[in-house]
Amino acid sequence: MSAASANTSTSGATATAAVMPGPGAPGESGRPCELREIPLPDLEPDSALLKVELSEVCGTDVHLRDGRLAGVPYPIIPGHVSVGLLDKIRGTITDVYGQPLREGDRVTFLDVHKTCNRCWYCLVAKASTRCPQRKVYGITYGLDDGLTGGWADYVYLKPGVRCIRMDGVPSETFMAGGCSLPTAMHAVERGDVTFGDTVLVLGAGPIGLSAVAFSTLRGAAKVLCIGAPSDRLACARAMGADDALDFTTMPESERRDWVRDLTGGRGADVTIECTGVPEAVTQAMRFTRDAGRVVVVGQYTDHGETSFNPHRDLNKKHLDVRGCWGSDYSHFHRSIEMLRTERAAALWSNIKPRRYPLAEVNDALAAVAAGEVVKALIVP
Ligand SMILES: [Zn+2]
Ligand SMILES: [Zn+2]
Repeated sequence: MSAASANTSTSGATATAAVMPGPGAPGESGRPCELREIPLPDLEPDSALLKVELSEVCGTDVHLRDGRLAGVPYPIIPGHVSVGLLDKIRGTITDVYGQPLREGDRVTFLDVHKTCNRCWYCLVAKASTRCPQRKVYGITYGLDDGLTGGWADYVYLKPGVRCIRMDGVPSETFMAGGCSLPTAMHAVERGDVTFGDTVLVLGAGPIGLSAVAFSTLRGAAKVLCIGAPSDRLACARAMGADDALDFTTMPESERRDWVRDLTGGRGADVTIECTGVPEAVTQAMRFTRDAGRVVVVGQYTDHGETSFNPHRDLNKKHLDVRGCWGSDYSHFHRSIEMLRTERAAALWSNIKPRRYPLAEVNDALAAVAAGEVVKALIVP
């Protein structure tokens, strides 16, 4: 079929979607999500319908279930990073090289949409992840915006959505990293990880694991990981960590000594916090060497405050502490370019996702919430 297919009407047909009506478990089943039949949209010019091959369940979806994110337009179809086949295209959609995409192409798409490139944040601060116009599939787009989440057999790719061809990238390897890939790449770059650095990663969830792998790829001489449980630490080692410590086995002061013992008594050059626990931010500051860098990427929702000593933990240490919010097209694109390489694909293939059919999405969500799986994939 040509990219400018004449038949773009989808009248009467429906997609099956897992809808989260609101936070908690308000569905008729008493569980967080319920399956609904959603009419397929009539495609706007230069839009497309994606037949979903794989979508993912990540910590953000647990936050959505728990109502921990502001500005979520429930009911929503969760699932922000997905892979699929372009099923129907109306008009022309192109990749960043200007090449038209074709029906049948296997692609992923940037979940962030409508970054405006005309506001103060986009143009003056050059911080597009703080653009107020920004919308995210599966998070800040809701059911009122159409099929805008990956927990469905079809996703509507609105005009302007950026697609990337997945030639040469195994879907499961990419989705094993999923949304953690651009997030962790952004965090590692925010930390200015450079050749010879010792990088400490706090947390062994998807973002922590991806931060370990990207740190090694960026030239860190040594990567340490503090997290739990043991199978995730084994995964961290397989993805490039030289040493990994189960934080449940010792108090903070001993963990700090562990880091210092491995860093000539100084502390890590760069620490990347990927835990979701506020106290870990203070620990990150204490585990880092004087004049080192700390990146905070694990505080995606508000879990409250933490205290630190401004003299000892920050000022006197001459420490550079940087927040890291979201990711942009560049991180997404370059993540996939990396996964086209054998050495990166080998690293992420260490994450073994568990697959769930769409009808078992509540089980997938429960397994991620309980930490039973590093990554759950939805197979519509
Ligand atoms: Zn903007
Ligand atoms: Zn995510």
